[in-house]
Amino acid sequence: MWSAGILPALSAEREQLAQLKNHERLAALADGMSALRKQCDSKMDRFIETTPFFTADHRKLSAEVAGLAEREVEVRAGDDEQDADEAVRSYVMLLFEADLLRYAVATPGQKFDLRSFCIIRETLSYSSSLADLAFVMQGLGTYAISQAATEHVRDFWLARAANGKAIGAFALTEPDAGSDVAAIKTIARREGDAYIIDGRKRFISNAGVADFYTVFARTGTRNDGRAEISAFVISARMPGFSVTERTEMMAPHPIGELEFKGCKVPAEDMIGAPGDGLRLSLQTLDLFRASVGAAASGMARRALDESILHAKTREQFGRPLSGHQLIQEKLADMATELDAARLLVYRAAYLKDAGADSSTREASQAKLFATEAAGRIIDQAVQIHGGTGLVRGSVVERLYRDVRALRIYEGTSEIQKLVIANQLLKE
Ligand SMILES: Cc1cc2nc3c(=O)[nH]c(=O)nc-3n(C[C@H](O)[C@H](O)[C@H](O)COP(=O)(O)OP(=O)(O)OC[C@H]3O[C@@H](n4cnc5c(N)ncnc54)[C@H](O)[C@@H]3O)c2cc1C
Repeated sequence: MWSAGILPALSAEREQLAQLKNHERLAALADGMSALRKQCDSKMDRFIETTPFFTADHRKLSAEVAGLAEREVEVRAGDDEQDADEAVRSYVMLLFEADLLRYAVATPGQKFDLRSFCIIRETLSYSSSLADLAFVMQGLGTYAISQAATEHVRDFWLARAANGKAIGAFALTEPDAGSDVAAIKTIARREGDAYIIDGRKRFISNAGVADFYTVFARTGTRNDGRAEISAFVISARMPGFSVTERTEMMAPHPIGELEFKGCKVPAEDMIGAPGDGLRLSLQTLDLFRASVGAAASGMARRALDESILHAKTREQFGRPLSGHQLIQEKLADMATELDAARLLVYRAAYLKDAGADSSTREASQAKLFATEAAGRIIDQAVQIHGGTGLVRGSVVERLYRDVRALRIYEGTSEIQKLVIANQLLKE
């Protein structure tokens, strides 16, 4: 939280910033941020400090990443003119230099530390959804490889992903296979010591930015008549592979369509055995699901902080907005929903780290509640900001657009409800 004495200055400064051109605005923002940072009470997050899910290492990590985000990510996030592809590339290097990519790229034989992963996602999302995307895609793109690729292929890609030299992507969704992942039509045919891949993928994050893609394709039909799905790691340079469309989303996010036309990949680039693909894709999504809730919590936390700041500094009817009880009610609801979201997220992460037999239900509950709650919290933040909350480039306006995708990707809210009910009925 910012100390009370600097709040009016910050508010006035923001009004001026809105009038400036982008480069002037950035310079002013950087100056303003550094002046404010000096007066910051404490960087330690009270939730992380006081809830029992975390070790001393987690608490230290949380403070370190918060410092990095303030110093390095804040100013870049405010740059309206920055190209999203370039932003992702530069964030990957920043995360490598800060020694954070090792939390995303699993080391074979070592347990994945989901609480650290969630802490980093939450903290990066507080400042920039693109910084968060850069981080999470190194995990989504490599997890199946770390679990099941042949040693040679695994070591090749994991080493490059961990040092920021190769950017990853996860290619499951197709035009006719969204929530119903088993309906994919992309086909991989065995031909000698290679597979020939034909088909299309859509809504693939990092399409056109990634150096390698973990791709899921049908390799046959199982005895029960269902598709046999296998996973492959495919270099972006492979002949027969192309990015056919870059899709413009409502918020900056490098994403697009892939096409495979007679794309020949060595058989050793299959991840695991034929037919392991569906299990590997679901394992990956199961592991990372709670962390989407962490990203949502980071955005919601920022929205709450911005709202408190605005409510304390903006005066209407002769007193600050924070003096009006209807505004206080909103802040109370936002803070309570945020705490509930974070409790669900870190419970799921804790259970996974503790080696619980299953944390599928808890992970889906975390994703469902945190992403839906973040939508509500950020909507209230816009309301508290009035017209300024709709001004293009303001923090809450950016959050409003950024948060929407989280209820859709890695399993929609509806699919999370089906998973939760399914688990309950099984228990
Ligand atoms: C920003 C963004 C990034 C993404 N990144 C990736 C990526 O990197 N890799 C990747 O493979 N995919 C990615 N996706 C795709 C994402 O995973 C899918 O969009 C998502 O799974 C939903 O699929 P769909 O869009 O085809 O919607 P559909 O499956 O067509 O669903 C449409 C609506 O119907 C509902 N619905 C579907 N089935 C049921 C049911 N049985 N019961 C009740 N309701 C149902 C859904 O909940 C939804 O509301 C991304 C998507 C977005 C928006």
